[in-house]
Amino acid sequence: MRSGKKERGKNFKYLLLTILSVLVVGAAVWLLIVKFEGGPPSITLEIKDPYISAEEKIQGRATDEKSGIRKLWAAVIQDGKESVLLEKTFESGETAEQAAQKLFTINMDTRKLGLSDGKALLRVSARDRSWGNWFSGNRAYIEKELVIDTSAPQVEVLTGQHNVSQGGAGLIIYKLSEECGKQGVSVNGHFFKGYSGYFEDPDIYIAFFGLAYDQQTDADMYVEAVDLAGNTGRRGFYHHLRNRRFNAETLTISDRLLDRILPGFRSVSGFPKDKPPVEQFLFINKDLRRKNNEAILSSGKNSDNGFHWSGAFARLPNSARKAGFADHRTYVYDGEVIDKEVHLGIDLASVRHAPVPAANSGRVDFVGQVGIYGNVVTIDHGFGLFSVYAHLSRTGVKEGQMVEKSEIIGHTGSTGLAAGDHLHYGMFINDIFVNPVEWWDPSWIENNVSAKLRGVKEMAGDE
Ligand SMILES: [Zn+2]
Repeated sequence: MRSGKKERGKNFKYLLLTILSVLVVGAAVWLLIVKFEGGPPSITLEIKDPYISAEEKIQGRATDEKSGIRKLWAAVIQDGKESVLLEKTFESGETAEQAAQKLFTINMDTRKLGLSDGKALLRVSARDRSWGNWFSGNRAYIEKELVIDTSAPQVEVLTGQHNVSQGGAGLIIYKLSEECGKQGVSVNGHFFKGYSGYFEDPDIYIAFFGLAYDQQTDADMYVEAVDLAGNTGRRGFYHHLRNRRFNAETLTISDRLLDRILPGFRSVSGFPKDKPPVEQFLFINKDLRRKNNEAILSSGKNSDNGFHWSGAFARLPNSARKAGFADHRTYVYDGEVIDKEVHLGIDLASVRHAPVPAANSGRVDFVGQVGIYGNVVTIDHGFGLFSVYAHLSRTGVKEGQMVEKSEIIGHTGSTGLAAGDHLHYGMFINDIFVNPVEWWDPSWIENNVSAKLRGVKEMAGDE
């Protein structure tokens, strides 16, 4: 009995010891894993490129899921001099979620900081709440090389005359003082990208631009260049904008015409099958036309960086003009005006299924069906200039293929919304259709393109 009691006492001691040691080991493990965790925080900065303009706000994020962020610090170093941009210690009373992620903004006012243009180093560090490293926590540290650029690019215009008609085109050549992320000609909301590489000097750019048929002759026009740090330089240039009168015509839509047109468009997505024929016509003539124009123009911003063409553009041989550029058409049905649209190309009729030559050399950019335009081929002549061939019965080229001037690319037809066999020929620069007549005219090409290119070539001393 006595010995049994003794045994129980011993067992109890053992149990106590075991519980105690489990607690001690548990606490130690908890301290090691949780309080002395060794995982450093992570830091990310939102910097697209190293270029920084006069005033920049850099967004950043520090995360530490284990113990949370305790301290943030950032500084910029230039010529051995360090300026602290951010120093912040967070209170300990935060929830785990609040402490785990910190968003921060580094304000870099380069003038206030006395920084000069050129290289600088950004350092950012974050510490967590771990008890490791003698209670100072784990540290994350990153460095980013920056290039401070506070001056706007200089634009020097190298061409003198820029005479542009409504619906017409122009060419400007300019030199920039530094590399730019975005540069070109701005014409009241339309932006025409400039291209480098034609001249030996890579800082000399060529930009074809245009005045849309519906833009006014007081349009604001200038070269704009935005450098890699975001500084913007602008320069106006001498220009003379001319008014143009466009033809107006009235087209009467008969029931017989609707019967002929509508069936071909029934499978177009969005076609209002249950609506009256006139509304179905309006869907084609208005909505689909707008969509199709946008689709054709969408290539404009991805033009080849190469000057593929030379001389005047070729017109469809032995053809009669059936409709002009920017003809203003009023559509009448049952004595009532139902629509007004503008024709953004030139209609040329020759014999049925006449072979269609490429108007000039270039790369075939698109071959396919485009709603009201039927079978379409577009050619990218480079530097933002394109030609369009529509209503074709057949096409004979592939996308990406280089074609020579006068090479046959297809045959005329009446696919899409066409009254008879003809070629709808269009031209566009960037996102506007321009008048093809100018490009067919050798003296217009000489005065507005060739002479300018030669002049700058001589000035720049190119071979
Ligand atoms: Zn047409």
